[in-house]
Amino acid sequence: MSDSQHPRTRAVHAGIRRSQYGEMAEALFLTQGFAYDSAEQAEARFQKIGPDEFIYARYGNPTSRMFEDRMASLEGTEDAFATASGMAAVNGALMAMVKPGDRVVAARQLFGSCLYVLDILARFGVEVVLLDGTNLAAWREAVTPGTKAVFFESVSNPVLEVMDIAGISEIAHAAGALVVVDNVFTTPVFSRAVEQGADVVVYSTTKHIDGGGRALGGVICGTRHFVREVAEPYLKHTGGAISPFNAWIMLNGLTTLDLRVRAMADSAAQIAQALDGAGVRVIYPGLPAHPQHELAMRQMGSGGTMIALQLASKQAAFDCMNRLRLISISNNLGDAKTIVTHPATTTHQRLSPETRAQAGITDGTLRLSIGLEHPADLLADLMQSLG
Ligand SMILES: *Cc1c(COP(=O)(O)O)cnc(C)c1O
Repeated sequence: MSDSQHPRTRAVHAGIRRSQYGEMAEALFLTQGFAYDSAEQAEARFQKIGPDEFIYARYGNPTSRMFEDRMASLEGTEDAFATASGMAAVNGALMAMVKPGDRVVAARQLFGSCLYVLDILARFGVEVVLLDGTNLAAWREAVTPGTKAVFFESVSNPVLEVMDIAGISEIAHAAGALVVVDNVFTTPVFSRAVEQGADVVVYSTTKHIDGGGRALGGVICGTRHFVREVAEPYLKHTGGAISPFNAWIMLNGLTTLDLRVRAMADSAAQIAQALDGAGVRVIYPGLPAHPQHELAMRQMGSGGTMIALQLASKQAAFDCMNRLRLISISNNLGDAKTIVTHPATTTHQRLSPETRAQAGITDGTLRLSIGLEHPADLLADLMQSLG
């Protein structure tokens, strides 16, 4: 597969491996083991696993490998390792590279489970520093020479603060730190994270890549050295590999990712603009009033598929949710179906009120993941629910 082809083409073709039957669709190799022709062959495989040679699905599987190769092609990285979930990817990427005494600097505007992983690192003697990820001066101060890694969501969950990948990467690289970016809200469609300086890009593929809210999955994209020498040994021995079935779902999701995400982002832009015009407090990186609007346009070329609303109170947020007829109350995102979430009482309820406030989450915050319905129907539902 040629790297000169457009991402949309690579999302359909990259990484394909055909069996002797020449099947058109990506085959689902629902097998954990692989038979050897001889004892000698088994011995040889365990000594050196070649690109087309597999020994156990926890280490690798042809369907999972197709998905990994397709993701690496889309992200423009040398390699990728697919994981059981987005959190297995975040945990794997960070845990695999640190030891006690190392320093990790992270944005405090993170998904609740990402913050939990950082707590685990701290429990094992890693020095974890949290800061306001939108403040380059804070990064400059915190990323001291010898810092092992920096970690942030390129667009934060749930209130859509946009982090400057190029700016943070420059600071990190000057200190010798690896840049790990959770790129879920940007999606591979709007991502040029590696071009902008990221070393490792992680996704929860449960979200836009599946696109139908069916299966859990994750992926770590990076250099061959990082993926195969750092992340893979940790993940294959601790059981973080993706199910081949889920990898097969993700491969299929990728073929329509570009069309879906662009349609969802177009709808999100229209809805954000209309709600803003109606006097609702809307947070959307595509609106000129968003504090990082210019950065979002430079970095992603889009406002993305997610919108946050700041309503007056928890009661106002709950009333709005309970009046919705078309939009579902759930906590996934990137689904074909539009979803509303109240982060303070669900995805981010584990956090202390102070930590939530620092992450910009109030009792009135709603997170909207815009799906594939007609935007006029979504807007009508939102307008009637906001009363
Ligand atoms: C959902 C999500 C994750 C975790 O992904 P899972 O597949 O649910 O484990 C990590 N980071 C962000 C930004 C997410 O939205």
